[in-house]
Amino acid sequence: MINKRPGRVEIIAVGSELLTPHFQDTNSLYLSARLNDLGWTVAFKTIVGDNAEDLRLRLREALRRTELVIVMGGLGPTGDDITREAVAGALGRDLVLQRDVLEGIEDRFRRRQLPMPKPNRKQAFVIRGAAVLPNKNGTAPGQVLMVGRKKIVLLPGPPHELKPMCEESVWPALGKERSGHFSRAVLKVTGLTESMVDALISDLYPKRADLGLTILASPGQIEVHLSAFSAGSGVLAEKKLRRLKSKFMGRLRNHVFSETGDSLEEVVGLLLKKQKKTLAVAESCSGGLISHRLTNVPGSSEYFLEGAVAYSNAAKIELLAVSPDLIKTHGAVSFPVARAMASGIRRRARADLGLAVTGIAGPTGGSPEKPIGLVFTALAWPGGTEVQKNLFLGKREQVKLQSAQKGLDMVRRHLLQNARSKKRRNR
Ligand code: AMP
Ligand code: MG
Repeated sequence: MINKRPGRVEIIAVGSELLTPHFQDTNSLYLSARLNDLGWTVAFKTIVGDNAEDLRLRLREALRRTELVIVMGGLGPTGDDITREAVAGALGRDLVLQRDVLEGIEDRFRRRQLPMPKPNRKQAFVIRGAAVLPNKNGTAPGQVLMVGRKKIVLLPGPPHELKPMCEESVWPALGKERSGHFSRAVLKVTGLTESMVDALISDLYPKRADLGLTILASPGQIEVHLSAFSAGSGVLAEKKLRRLKSKFMGRLRNHVFSETGDSLEEVVGLLLKKQKKTLAVAESCSGGLISHRLTNVPGSSEYFLEGAVAYSNAAKIELLAVSPDLIKTHGAVSFPVARAMASGIRRRARADLGLAVTGIAGPTGGSPEKPIGLVFTALAWPGGTEVQKNLFLGKREQVKLQSAQKGLDMVRRHLLQNARSKKRRNR
């Protein structure tokens, strides 16, 4: 094996439209997926407008910091397409007219019985020393060149040209150069904040170049992305990943709800199905989000019986049989009302489990005793109830998201606990 570490790549997308709110650089998503498969790591992505000076600077910088630079876009025939000239300029090389490329372009027009417009001629110019990558789906050929030990690849911007060119010419060549294998896993965590996760695992952060870790946080959910690289074999990469994963699982334990990409509602659904339990949900501030998420899962009719959005006090009283006195004494957002809602929906639906959420999503309605983001989540089951008081931060929608996540997680943890005590009893 030539290299033990994954090779580093910089992707440079050229196009002023990519710097507006109207267009996105989607090519680099495709490129990074395929590069990763081949054992390369994308170290940087850069977007440059149609500006030759900017591109020259960015290219020189990319050559200093990575081994492979992929530049895409700006190979068209028009005046704003400057990639060819800028790259040649940055390297101090000239552009050479390549006859067979010109003939190929002329032929494309001849087949459509059109004269070749003059500007297309510039697409037949190749940077001195570069090899041409044929383009079956357009006029701009790609180019590959070496600058010392660094490699530069130029690709056309339109995805339907770039992808076939990569499949036919680029990946076969790059794959031969650096065979390597990545294995990846995502541990999805809920019920902990980002800093709590960090405190649990910070001493496990891998320091080796062949192991990777990234933590992504969103409201109510934290993802730990793990990767392992092997230059030798996929089996070895998989083995390294398994070892890494088990270290993290040892710390995060049942805070991890999925290692396989499943959503929380899918995991809850699987547990309910496995334990042959049914669920009904009463939602106030989450406004039906929990029911929506549960019913997004195919087959949820097997375990999800009923979802009520009991928003007003009257709805809580009528639909869930919450006592009016309880609401008068404690308020709709309170520990006892949450519990009564959970028991109420459970009885009403004749479900094994009743889940309820009541809280203050904001932006108005908060008070010093009951601030915005105060949410009670409650679960009722045949032998008892559990209520949790939560203080969520963020805007209305984020409070709703976190409330739903918390409610679902209470069901998950209850079912896990259930399975554990059953196992103990059977022993
Ligand atoms: P160009 O090669 O710069 O003439 O680009 C032609 C077209 O390709 C653009 O108008 C875009 O629609 C598309 N394109 C260019 N760069 C990208 C990119 N990074 N991701 C997705 N589409 C792109
Ligand atoms: Mg362009």
